[in-house]
Amino acid sequence: MRKRIVAGNWKMNKTYEEALTLVSEIDNMVKDEVTGDVTVIVAPPFPFLQSVGKLTQGNDLMHLAAQNVSEHESGAYTGEVSATMLKSVGAEYVIIGHSERRMYHHEDAQTLYKKLKATIAQGLKPIFCCGEPLEERDAENHFEYVGKQLHDSLSYLSNEEFDQVVVAYEPIWAIGTGRTASSQQAQEMHAYIREQLSRMFDAEAAFNTSILYGGSCNPGNAKELFSQEDVDGGLIGGASLKSRDFADIIKSF
Ligand code: PEP
Repeated sequence: MRKRIVAGNWKMNKTYEEALTLVSEIDNMVKDEVTGDVTVIVAPPFPFLQSVGKLTQGNDLMHLAAQNVSEHESGAYTGEVSATMLKSVGAEYVIIGHSERRMYHHEDAQTLYKKLKATIAQGLKPIFCCGEPLEERDAENHFEYVGKQLHDSLSYLSNEEFDQVVVAYEPIWAIGTGRTASSQQAQEMHAYIREQLSRMFDAEAAFNTSILYGGSCNPGNAKELFSQEDVDGGLIGGASLKSRDFADIIKSF
């Protein structure tokens, strides 16, 4: 069964106090207002994971994600955080391959593959991000570009490993720009992604994979996006920093 998911990527925002306030506001709104079957995920910065995790642990509705993970298991890697560490503070998901990590931290397909392996080996679920820059869309090369991203990092996983993966399609030109992909653009890319996944893995696994849309998703456009057949939820940046907006997006299913 395909899970419906709304995940909030807080990026490098909020102080400790603000993070605790935000997560408890979201928790209250989700408890009071969300009736449908939706998995809600929050991805705070590393220093706040443990405290936010205290609220999400044992909470059926809310789940914890990290925004990044090391490809290494342990050892002399100053500044890095391992999947084992993330698991030990209650993380269940890890965002891997976000365009900001690819762009500013030069994470290539091989590194992302190692991060996927390290994450899955610890029983955590990767949220694997893909998406094309504007010039690839303008050149009508977006399907090929995204297909290669999927192939280059995911195709070496086994079917069992792939079962743990959530995919997020995030066109770079829509991230933080206020310019959203139309529901038709999102649907056609999500259907293409699912088809590519069915070639790499078994068809049932591809059918059951949640594929999230990310890129300027907000309470005004979420309903239309989430109503598309192959859009199983959203990875939300800016709008996940405001509890009211995030809760309204979750209620858009
Ligand atoms: C993101 O960076 O994952 C994202 C979707 O950001 P925003 O919602 O702000 O466009």
